[in-house]
Amino acid sequence: MSSTTIALESFVRALPKTDLHVHLDGSLRLGTLIELAREHRVELPSYTEAGLIEQVFKPRYKNLPEYLEGFRYTCAVLQTPEALERTTFELCADCREEGVDYVEIRFAPQLHVHPGLSLRDVAKAVHRGIRRAETAFDGRSDGRPPFRAGMIFCALRYFNEFFSDEYRRLKDVHQFSAPEEVFAFASLELARAAVKLKNEEGLPVVAFDLAGQEKGYPASQHARAYQAAHEGFLGKTVHAGEDYGPESIFQAIGDCHADRIGHGTWLFDASKVGPKVKDPQAYVERLAQYVADRRISIEVCLTSNQQTVPELAGDLRLHPFGKMRQRRLSTTFCTDNRLVSSTTVTKEILRAVEAFGLHAEEVRDILIYGFKRSFFPGTYLEKRAYVRQVIDFADAVLERFFPGTTQGLHRRKS
Ligand SMILES: [Zn+2]
Repeated sequence: MSSTTIALESFVRALPKTDLHVHLDGSLRLGTLIELAREHRVELPSYTEAGLIEQVFKPRYKNLPEYLEGFRYTCAVLQTPEALERTTFELCADCREEGVDYVEIRFAPQLHVHPGLSLRDVAKAVHRGIRRAETAFDGRSDGRPPFRAGMIFCALRYFNEFFSDEYRRLKDVHQFSAPEEVFAFASLELARAAVKLKNEEGLPVVAFDLAGQEKGYPASQHARAYQAAHEGFLGKTVHAGEDYGPESIFQAIGDCHADRIGHGTWLFDASKVGPKVKDPQAYVERLAQYVADRRISIEVCLTSNQQTVPELAGDLRLHPFGKMRQRRLSTTFCTDNRLVSSTTVTKEILRAVEAFGLHAEEVRDILIYGFKRSFFPGTYLEKRAYVRQVIDFADAVLERFFPGTTQGLHRRKS
């Protein structure tokens, strides 16, 4: 590694960062997964870290099903409050260790619910993990912003009876309903839970999300759930444009009031626009313009996209992040799954810097945007004060690594 690479890595690690798109069940420590599997008698293909990396959590995946394989094991060990609390705390610790000061931890509570564990218990366990982390990482005197975290509830576009006890129960009691009605009902129930737990019990449930297989399972089927989240003043994000076209992104915005989009990989791909649209090229142009203008943020997960989208696997420069930057879309770097994608926020940024030639000030601006577009669990005034602290800290880091730059930044602002 050259000295420039080392300096760049130290700079990125030192900067304040966010992770606005990270799944709890995709971000366990391998050692913890093995320990919990032993404790709960969950069968793993290997009980060594090297064995699991070779067989399950690979550096590269053949396709999406192979990518998703690991979640079977991680979800199986996350069925107790203790396991949920512990893995949440460890995720926060891993974030803090690389200078990620703000994180929104997302998970699908219904994957962890069973007769011995209610949805409220699941949320409270994750909250305990967050609270422990916030207390443990508080009080540092180096000027770093305090560590903060929120949680995002994920509904699933599709599930079957093998996903979890709760999903099996939902299928069982709605045997005469169409599958899409059951999916829609499950997500509506979850949205209502999110609103109640936030507004009445004070849990930091900051937003509602929709995840899972996109093709064939449109977001519009979950419009009622999003309406409930909207009426409860929750933040809204949707996994969209990951394995389906630009219209899926528009549905997320139009039908689900999305403030942010997870991935948005096919935003510019006119070839993926359906036959109802007369001029696909004009459609994607207008959509991109709309997304830019409304400051709808794209949660960009470079490594994860390369692992699940074969077209992007060979060369990161093919990723639409370049176009997003050119058009000044609001973007933020996220890991998606720290374990499954074998990545960190620092790695994501370094890869972006290398592939897209970002300079130091651009990196600073994108990172600060992550804080601004977060669904911060506090009042707007508290958020402003936090962001101010972040900006001052980021500028101090920039000045330390690239002396003289911040004067230029202040000139540019005026
Ligand atoms: Zn995701």
